[in-house]
Amino acid sequence: MHKYLILSFLLIFVFACSDSKQTIIDIPITSDVEDLIEHSKEFDQQVLTFDTPGGKVHFAIGFGIANSIMVEGDEGNIIIDTSDSVFEAEKIYTLFRKKNSNPIKAIIYTHNHGDHTFGASYYVNLQNEKPQIIAHEDTDYYVQRIMGILNPIITSRSTKMFGTALPEKDLINVGIGPSLSVSKSPTGYIKPNLTFKDNLNLNIAGIEIELFHAPGETNDQIFVWLPEHKSLMPGDNIYKTFPNLYTIRGTTHRDVKGWIDSIDHMKSFSPSFLFPSHTKPIIGVDKIQSALNTYRDAIQFIHDQTIRLMNQGLYPDEIVEMISLPKHIADSPYLYEFYGTVRWSVKSIFNGYLGWFSGNPSELDPLSRKEKAIRISRLAGGNDKLLDQLKVAVENNDMQWALELSDHLIALDYFIDEVKDLRIDALIYEGSRSSNPNKRNYFLSSALELNGSILDTPLTDRTSEELLQNISIDTLFDVLSSRYNPINHTDDNFKVCFNFSSSKSKSITLRNQVAVVSDDIVQNCNIKILTEELEFKKILVGISNPVSLIASGSMGVDGSTTEFLQFLAKFR
Ligand SMILES: [Zn+2]
Repeated sequence: MHKYLILSFLLIFVFACSDSKQTIIDIPITSDVEDLIEHSKEFDQQVLTFDTPGGKVHFAIGFGIANSIMVEGDEGNIIIDTSDSVFEAEKIYTLFRKKNSNPIKAIIYTHNHGDHTFGASYYVNLQNEKPQIIAHEDTDYYVQRIMGILNPIITSRSTKMFGTALPEKDLINVGIGPSLSVSKSPTGYIKPNLTFKDNLNLNIAGIEIELFHAPGETNDQIFVWLPEHKSLMPGDNIYKTFPNLYTIRGTTHRDVKGWIDSIDHMKSFSPSFLFPSHTKPIIGVDKIQSALNTYRDAIQFIHDQTIRLMNQGLYPDEIVEMISLPKHIADSPYLYEFYGTVRWSVKSIFNGYLGWFSGNPSELDPLSRKEKAIRISRLAGGNDKLLDQLKVAVENNDMQWALELSDHLIALDYFIDEVKDLRIDALIYEGSRSSNPNKRNYFLSSALELNGSILDTPLTDRTSEELLQNISIDTLFDVLSSRYNPINHTDDNFKVCFNFSSSKSKSITLRNQVAVVSDDIVQNCNIKILTEELEFKKILVGISNPVSLIASGSMGVDGSTTEFLQFLAKFR
């Protein structure tokens, strides 16, 4: 990668396993994870075929994270969700095609997440007649946001949560699938070309299709109802684990109330077949109604009780200790905490309605992490005493307390090897005893990262030219403004204008330590750039070098080339 790589932000996996010198950490298999190991059977890799009243439905499970579904029509089939990668899509379609090789007429995304959309380009490039790509009207917005401004942090946290960098033997499963395969091939997202707001009725290859907006796990979630097949595809609004009302990789508030309404909407069709995008199908009206009831009641219980206690003035950490699922449904296999948890959900619901401030005045402007650590250390009698307490905590397997004590020592810059080793012990102990794979993978990955067995270096850049075509130039300019480092700010009102051959114009003005992006007709420009959108996208993601593009004439610079390169460097 060359030195002009300024925004290596697109879908780069940030962790790689190192085969060098680090001590190998042995992660024990504890009795606490027996259920989780058993849960892996849910994801035995296979294609299941169902004869519904409307025709055959093929269901691929155990490939990457999300399922992929093929519905047979007359001389054409449709695909619902494309799996998490081109790599898995190819494996799936090789099996689907053996069942029925008619062309794919349409792809339906149930929502924006990569495990449902990143396999699409495989189908699009497979045949001459391009399939329609159908989704909710907001799906592309959310994809662009995840691939754009939020990419570095979401990628880093997802890598830990899904245990992508863990040794294979230590990854049991990820709760809703065996493992994430996104890093195995270039990202195959293709922008939808048919979208809708509330609902849409279609007939494709003779298949009657009704699509409904169904906010829940994501705001752009939809469900698919095939009336002739008596089949419903709920996307991620139900799977066989407690719902992810909050995801620890990071998300804005999920519409919990909308989720309940969406499940009620699904129930109203009385489907005979339910084909979720994670975990196995549910067959039979009664079983489906019962699962949907349990799921929506659990969500409503957590929602309503959080609100009730919140209105009494209780703080989120207090509410967390007071809420557990009603006995009657707590043992339902649809509510095992193999993905979401009640505790994280409560905090997320509180935060969704009231924001981050608990209401406790002492938490409005608390001491900084470092200041607090200094006071705690003073109380304990110094850093060495704090370290003694950390050792005692680890000896007693009081590991959450050990983690908190090590937080203080780290804030005090007292991160000596002994502290690091004790923190690793605590992470491994807690991680290996959690039957929630998100927590397990996050803790174990964090331990390996501390130990140096996981390196914080780029491994795979999955950006392809095809992907860049599907990422809008607006997304990339948004990323530019959020990558601007004000330390490098020098000239106020320095303006660079871009005229793309698509006839689109953009400008960036540096002022008051922000990079202001505008679509305005460009004037008063210090530098004018004339190029193709794709060429500029390639520079931004580091595929192309601006110096060679300028030298070859693919990029015209009206102004000082040196100044332009210095300008780009401010976004590094
Ligand atoms: Zn999913």
